[in-house]
Amino acid sequence: MKRKLTEEQRVKHMVAERLRRKTHPEKCKAAEKKWRDKDPEKRKRLNRERIFKKREIFQEKANAYKILHGCIDCGYKESALALQFDHVYGEKVKQVSLYDDWEKAQDEVSKCVIRCANCHMIKTFKRKRGVE
Ligand SMILES: [Zn+2]
Repeated sequence: MKRKLTEEQRVKHMVAERLRRKTHPEKCKAAEKKWRDKDPEKRKRLNRERIFKKREIFQEKANAYKILHGCIDCGYKESALALQFDHVYGEKVKQVSLYDDWEKAQDEVSKCVIRCANCHMIKTFKRKRGVE
């Protein structure tokens, strides 16, 4: 049975792993290739799980942020599902929801306010029509 590592053990393991990669790069590459080729389906599954987990963590943080701020126009903050990031400052590089890392998304988040879906729709319509 696989033992779950504590955070400290995990960091120690990572440091040792990095050192090993530096001192024996060819051994590491060979071992990685062996692992990759041994069970490609397992590798794909683990990769998918890792990406899914990362997205999930991002979603949790983004949702907490949305609920915390609520809609800037009407104050709605019942459900994060109906709250959206509305770009109002600077230039939009990428939609916030397309990120998978909350820290990396901070540049975009700082250009946004939170609006509920209704207010966002109305605001965007008015903006496009040049009403506001
Ligand atoms: Zn609203």
